[in-house]
Amino acid sequence: MVEDTIAAIATALGEGSIAVVRVSGPQAVECIAPLFRSKSDLREVASHTVHYGRIVDPANDTVLDEVLVTVMRGPRSFTAEDVVEISTHGGIVAVKSVLELVLRHGVRMAEPGEFTKRAFLNGRIDLAQAEAVIDLIRSKSERAFQVARKQVEGDLSKQIVPLRAQLIELLAHVEVNIDYPEHDVAEVTAGVIRDTCGEALKKVRQLLDRANEGKILREGIVTAIIGRPNAGKSSLLNALARDNKAIVTDIPGTTRDIVEESVSVGGIPLRLLDTAGIRETTDVVEQIGVERSLGALNDADLILLVLNHHEPLHEDERKLLEQVKDRSTLVVVNKIDLSGSLDLDEVIALVGQDRIVRLSAKEGTGLEELEQAVARLFFSGTVETGDLTYVSNARHIALLHRTQISLTDAIDAADEGIPIDLIQIDIAASWESLGEILGDSAGESLLDQIFSQFCLGK
Ligand code: GDP
Ligand code: ZN
Repeated sequence: MVEDTIAAIATALGEGSIAVVRVSGPQAVECIAPLFRSKSDLREVASHTVHYGRIVDPANDTVLDEVLVTVMRGPRSFTAEDVVEISTHGGIVAVKSVLELVLRHGVRMAEPGEFTKRAFLNGRIDLAQAEAVIDLIRSKSERAFQVARKQVEGDLSKQIVPLRAQLIELLAHVEVNIDYPEHDVAEVTAGVIRDTCGEALKKVRQLLDRANEGKILREGIVTAIIGRPNAGKSSLLNALARDNKAIVTDIPGTTRDIVEESVSVGGIPLRLLDTAGIRETTDVVEQIGVERSLGALNDADLILLVLNHHEPLHEDERKLLEQVKDRSTLVVVNKIDLSGSLDLDEVIALVGQDRIVRLSAKEGTGLEELEQAVARLFFSGTVETGDLTYVSNARHIALLHRTQISLTDAIDAADEGIPIDLIQIDIAASWESLGEILGDSAGESLLDQIFSQFCLGK
């Protein structure tokens, strides 16, 4: 049981219009009440109510800020403990002085992720949900946000829990039959193992199939814009950034030398790298020529090959088309506002009609078609909004792979007539690896590693 009370700033630091100091723990109300001057005494107010007042330093009666204070009594709170949230005016000064005051009155500074860790330790959420909170904080597009939110609500867990229940039932069944090793019983049991493990395997494969899409949603599509000098690469980049809300994300713990810019195109984050990334390499491409630029393309998830509608196809462009046609490539025929000299039929013959988008980066026409083409490429149509359970977390993916292996081993062993007490080991292993996703058998160090990825105040 957690004993102490913790606090942190729960909103992003900066120029926001409000900032929130979150306090959680058994003494939350007791500690804040003496610092809060208001018509109501926090110790007496109903849970889940908001109160207007002032935060005052009792040592010298200084008013630090006008605030709204929300009281949420456990277990109906994020951490399942008593939570008090103090909404101060935005800006660093007000919120910091309130936090410092709180920390002088029996409250300890929270570690990164400690609120979420408490929610987990108090059984309020499982580990998959806790990790989804990390994704939520980091999500770079509306769609990624929705996927993460669904996981916070326990979507993945809802699929894993019944799977485990079936495996436990199977283990019990096998256990019973080990005590009655007659031949026909063993045969029946092998059939049950095949069926149950086969069903579980199907489900695990479905989750893994969607994992790749989940990864893309979470991390963004690494996009390389290539083409000959003057085709309009930089113009396209700028047009996309202008047309779409560019979200700059600060990912805690992964400080990089480069600034990363995510452009959300049709709900899908395209990752365009500044400085060391696409912008520079496009210019490098222009210098080092077609051959070597292809090496730089290896890491790209998506290639946008820009052609100039105003000019005939160049020999370099033929080479490029040939090289990228088997990759996730869209051919952007740019400058359609100008008269055309490009032989479109030749391009169609090489890559097919539905991978060609005609647009004018300069006038901004056709950008929507490009966005739709990107979405088509990555989601083979539209994503049904009701079905967003993507597994998007590397740890979950690894565990699902491990589950897949043990289930396959169990099925193979049953096919080969191997004694069921040996098959039992594989079934138990798959039950365990699924449990690790939920945090059932998570060791302390794993927990620390997971929760340390959070930013402060979550
Ligand atoms: P890059 O070398 O491939 O990056 O090409 P830029 O984006 O720098 O564009 C080269 C030239 O083409 C510039 O003068 C742009 O203004 C012009 N340009 C780019 N896109 C269009 C377009 O859609 N229509 C027209 N008419 N000009 C364009
Ligand atoms: Zn350029």
